Amino acid sequence: MIILRDKQSSCATFRWAAEKITELLIEEVFNYLEEEPCRVETPLASTSGFRLKKVPLLLPILRSGMTMVPPFLRYFPDAPVGVVGLKRDEETAQAHWYYNNVPVTKDEQLVVILDPMIATGGTGAETVQFLLNRGIQENKILFVSIISSPEGIALLQGRYPSIRIISAACDQGLNKEKFIIPGIGDFGDRYFGTI
Ligand code: URA
Repeated sequence: MIILRDKQSSCATFRWAAEKITELLIEEVFNYLEEEPCRVETPLASTSGFRLKKVPLLLPILRSGMTMVPPFLRYFPDAPVGVVGLKRDEETAQAHWYYNNVPVTKDEQLVVILDPMIATGGTGAETVQFLLNRGIQENKILFVSIISSPEGIALLQGRYPSIRIISAACDQGLNKEKFIIPGIGDFGDRYFGTI
């Protein structure tokens, strides 16, 4: 986490750290996925174990959420991936839709929203509302982020008490430009090297 926060970290180092933290978050995601018993034949005998009942639907919020897709696909290579495009207006900090392409979920499939930064929670709330309007149950929505703010968490949990949120860190709060403090600056710019 300190590598991500350090403004001296190169783009390559930032990418490496973001990916490592995402992998740790994925380990947590497994706690929310249903398993079912199964049997397999080893070369020598029949034995029992568990496998995932359903792969989750991955839903990155463009553009920073895309950075979490490659590590998620390493763990869930069959997972369908939807996309939502929401841009935060830098003046008003309001979220605006510009794109969505979200497949229909299959019975009770978990939807995992990917956004490394939960700042005001505005883009996250828009995404959750979009899913609820499609008939997805609140308790089938899991939000995965790297850094969140108390304000963003409060907004999401206040409006949608049954969604689950996994975040590697919850920072002090937002500054007047609605950036997370201490945070890491603009995640997308640092990851994509567009500073
Ligand atoms: N998005 C970012 O990338 N950084 C912040 O601090 C807030 C939102």
